[in-house]
Amino acid sequence: MPAMLTDVARIIAGASRGAVLTGAGISAESGVPTFRGKEGLWGKFRPEELATMDAFLSNPKIVWEWYNWRRELMAGVEPNPGHYALRDLAGYFDRFTIITQNVDNLHRLAGSEDVLELHGNIYRNKCADCNRQHDMDADVDPETIPSCAFCGGKIRPDVVWFGEMLPAEAIDRAFAEAEQSEVFLSVGTSALVHPAASLPVAAKRRGATLVEINPDETPLTSLADYYFPACAGGVLPDLVAAVRNAAGTP
Ligand code: NAD
Ligand code: ZN
Repeated sequence: MPAMLTDVARIIAGASRGAVLTGAGISAESGVPTFRGKEGLWGKFRPEELATMDAFLSNPKIVWEWYNWRRELMAGVEPNPGHYALRDLAGYFDRFTIITQNVDNLHRLAGSEDVLELHGNIYRNKCADCNRQHDMDADVDPETIPSCAFCGGKIRPDVVWFGEMLPAEAIDRAFAEAEQSEVFLSVGTSALVHPAASLPVAAKRRGATLVEINPDETPLTSLADYYFPACAGGVLPDLVAAVRNAAGTP
């Protein structure tokens, strides 16, 4: 087993609190396209023109068509070994929080329980005016977008759009978990979008061991104590096996 993996496994086996920040990269092996990778959605569409309140106000039909297409794209998709490994890794900590920028619901589908969704969840709907959640996972016909029963506002996907604040409760807890973690993993994120990208930095500043898994280097790489230039679905199951060894559990 590679020395770096054994070192990280030993640190994890001796730690009680950990957290991970995941990005689109962890779902890439499930077949969900990333935004910025070579196969990313950016090349074909311009999310910054569709995933905004301005776009929704001026053309809600097109925005809903785009989200319905993304929902369809994600519908047949299943968690991959990377998601399952993170679920299993949690078992070696007293407390382990998954902080995700993904909206695809795959961590929950894999069975992870402590999941903070910083950018919402593409399967949920909410009111564009009063923010109340609406018919959790109902399909929306772009031709007849339903209105909020409370205020009459238009129903939109419950995801964070460009220019919008992150859900305060989720980001506050994410920073608290990062700062109290002894080990912090950054997996499959380009670490470019703040404030999420500040979480690994905050964890490291408070003394956490920082581990990064990403085939490509990011602004975080030079700060990481351990950097695995590889795919999440390959490294994470190996890491769980190594932690199992280090912890002496069968
Ligand atoms: P990003 O697209 O900016 O970066 C993805 C990163 O993953 C890249 O650095 C890439 O090198 C890396 N990567 C690619 N394949 C990988 C693999 N197999 N294992 C490990 N890493 C791999 O994604 P981001 O940092 O999450 O930020 C983009 C924004 O896009 C987020 O706000 C998110 O909400 C949104 N988004 C979400 C999904 C999803 O829910 N699955 C998909 C696309 C975009
Ligand atoms: Zn409303």
